Amino acid sequence: MTAPALMPIEQALETLLSTASARISAEEITLEQADGRVLLEDIHAAIDVPPWPNSAMDGYALCCADQLPGREFEISQRIPAGVAPQALTPGTIARIFTGAPLPAGADAVVMQENCSVIDGNRVVITQPVTAGENVRRRGSDVRAGSLLLSAGHRLSPAALGVLAATGITKVQVGRKPRVALITSGDELQRPGQTLAPGQIYDSNRPVLKALLSRLGLEVVDMGNMPDNREHTERLLLEASRQADCIVSSGGVSAGEEDHVRAAVQTCGRLDVWKLALKPGKPFAFGQLGQALFFGLPGNPVSAYVTFLVLVRPALLRLCGASQPELSQIMVPSGFDASASGSRQEYLRVRLNAGDGSRLPSIVPLPDQSSGILSSVMQADGLAVIPPYTSVSSGQLLRFLPFGDIV
Ligand code: AMP
Ligand code: MG
Repeated sequence: MTAPALMPIEQALETLLSTASARISAEEITLEQADGRVLLEDIHAAIDVPPWPNSAMDGYALCCADQLPGREFEISQRIPAGVAPQALTPGTIARIFTGAPLPAGADAVVMQENCSVIDGNRVVITQPVTAGENVRRRGSDVRAGSLLLSAGHRLSPAALGVLAATGITKVQVGRKPRVALITSGDELQRPGQTLAPGQIYDSNRPVLKALLSRLGLEVVDMGNMPDNREHTERLLLEASRQADCIVSSGGVSAGEEDHVRAAVQTCGRLDVWKLALKPGKPFAFGQLGQALFFGLPGNPVSAYVTFLVLVRPALLRLCGASQPELSQIMVPSGFDASASGSRQEYLRVRLNAGDGSRLPSIVPLPDQSSGILSSVMQADGLAVIPPYTSVSSGQLLRFLPFGDIV
């Protein structure tokens, strides 16, 4: 009997994303709650930012055309930030501070370092200015009516600032899914407990919990699932009632002690299993009741890689993101490698920053086996080697920087 063909990762991702797309739902929240949330509406600016021309310096506002060498200007008003100024009396100068509105009739600001003040009420300019100098134009940051952000955009701190600057207080975003987290394996012990012979500490739980928390998701820790079919079915069904998604690790390979995949097949449905992916071949995806099920392999590196390239995009899509995948840049390889097999490989790599004479390049960490979690910790990201591809030094490779996951 021939083994079933492995599913290409692009096909698996498409299945995950289209399933997630169908389940996006909206809620309205305040801007204070919106960091990291995904917009479900286009947002146009209601006002210009800045709403009026204002000074970029502490100094003196004037009409440039009034400047003559050695001329003494009378200081006709004082304009601190937050105050509505009078129109500039022709032929005079106005004391002005950073952020204060420019008075009508003025078209430039002389910085105070380029002025001599005489008797506290007159000013001589030592460095003439031209029109527009040290003035922030109305609408120079944002134009009223312009499209600020589109639906599908994940809000960054800077985006929150831009929205606040236009006076926005509430936004329509994707509802945050609740995620049940389960690890499976009779060998797993929690840190803090003594290891009995044959046991190891559960390292996937803190990794996955942190990766989920960084997406701003609510995590329900369902604990550890023993390698027992009945227990597995019971816990998975319980998780499907408590959460919108289930993320589990382990028990999805083809061995007799792997009960997770079979339990999903019995209690729900399995849409994806076994990918042309290295590490991470046994990844499973399906549905249990109303919940989406993501079954990660137990090997710590496989769990990490499949989370980043499959689960994270699906969860971000569920939150509404239009571009949920890790960002990629093309970086020259700093190594040679003979042709990969039928599976797309994700190598843990370091990024050599390069210098004046050398381009940046990526080099793999020495031990790429799927149990070596410390090499994920030491890596700067993943390099993608497509199926049946050899690599020669200098060739451009897709690099997925881990900086993106924070
Ligand atoms: P499995 O996918 O259940 O066959 O597990 C594959 C390998 O990953 C085995 O060596 C497990 O002991 C290990 N493993 C499974 N789950 C975890 C976990 N939560 N933390 C650390 N190692 C794990
Ligand atoms: Mg196991």
